[in-house]
Amino acid sequence: MRLPLATATTLLAAGFAHAAVTTIPHAEVTCEGADAKWAKAMAETMAAARIVYLDEFACDMPDTVHGRLSVKAGESTRLYTDGRDHLFLSLPSESKLAAPAKSGVFNLYGMCHELGHMAMYRVLRDRDWMTGDAAEGWAHYAGSVVIDRVFDLKGDSLWPDPYDYRADGTARLTKQLASASPDGVTVAAGQWQKLGEIVGRKGYAKLFIAWQAIEVDLTKPAESLLASAVRIFPDHKEPLTQWWTQAAKLFVKTADASAFQATTITASRLTGKPVVLASDDDRSDGKKSIAGGGHARRFAVPDDGEWYIRTVTVCGAQYGRAKNAMFDVALCDTELRPVATWKKPYTAFRFGDLQWTRLPVTPTRVPREFCICLVFRPTATQGVYVGFDNSTQGESLVGVPGEPGRDFVEGDWMIRVELDQPKDTASRPAR
Ligand SMILES: [Zn+2]
Repeated sequence: MRLPLATATTLLAAGFAHAAVTTIPHAEVTCEGADAKWAKAMAETMAAARIVYLDEFACDMPDTVHGRLSVKAGESTRLYTDGRDHLFLSLPSESKLAAPAKSGVFNLYGMCHELGHMAMYRVLRDRDWMTGDAAEGWAHYAGSVVIDRVFDLKGDSLWPDPYDYRADGTARLTKQLASASPDGVTVAAGQWQKLGEIVGRKGYAKLFIAWQAIEVDLTKPAESLLASAVRIFPDHKEPLTQWWTQAAKLFVKTADASAFQATTITASRLTGKPVVLASDDDRSDGKKSIAGGGHARRFAVPDDGEWYIRTVTVCGAQYGRAKNAMFDVALCDTELRPVATWKKPYTAFRFGDLQWTRLPVTPTRVPREFCICLVFRPTATQGVYVGFDNSTQGESLVGVPGEPGRDFVEGDWMIRVELDQPKDTASRPAR
């Protein structure tokens, strides 16, 4: 299948005075600092790779893939995606756009690889159980297959510095897999390839959807992931189970559960007169969005009684263009091991200035000392800022549930909690 070659290049309005936009069907590239021929080739590569992910992998892809190409002296060589519909490529000089043999940069493969991340992340949004090797292995495997197919569609003249980019496809992956000690990403790519031999190329997307639909217990994720795979491919139960004994070791990380058991209570059994734990001065001294981490704050119950958490209140603001994005509010022990996790929509937060946002949770008993950890999983184009207050310090961490966090040293996150007690045990009078 040949893609239409009609190309429109326009200049963007104020603010992007030097950026030119190249638009073709299903791809658009904003380019700064490089000749428009590169932007056009980038757009054509993205559009062709998109077709392969759609037709051969049955993945949900954006109607238009947006690329940003920025070439500027001093810029580091980077290519990444927001996991939805954007690719960002930055390079220190135009020479880095040449064929890999000259530039050392695998731009064509890189784009096919990033679209692979997009194909997975658009569907499988909650994947805290997944290792980095599994995510990168998928993009490596899929990117290698897709670049071969892009060559079939577009040939070697696709890139302004023409070369046979099939060398960066499955031929390279096969060589890497046969090497004496392949790295974790390569081995994971090999496992994804094996899965395709069981469920077919269109099976991946089905599996991503199924995995997103289940509630994965991060303290024992492997069982529920396999069970869900077997549910959608019942005819392949045996080979899937066999595959998973190897793949799970590479794909899955298991979070340490807290020894403190999650105990819930019906709200009507509580006094309805919650105590607020707040030690900030109500004025933020800064705000942060944390990629690959979370905002955690320690609390201690007011006394030896039985205390249940009712509400987490966060001084924060949403930014970007999150659609249906969710975040986690986790009740953890002081080692950040999870006791209970609640999903909340990004839309709970407003845009613009930081504002206190109340997040009611299922009344759940808290340990004497505990942490509340907020995990937003921000990307290049969406996230939530959480304010911090530097009038106190030492109670806040950066980290995710199940892994020991690191101290946050600029102050304490502006997170408050409301605790309540059961009517029958709240015997003490107001203090
Ligand atoms: Zn990657």
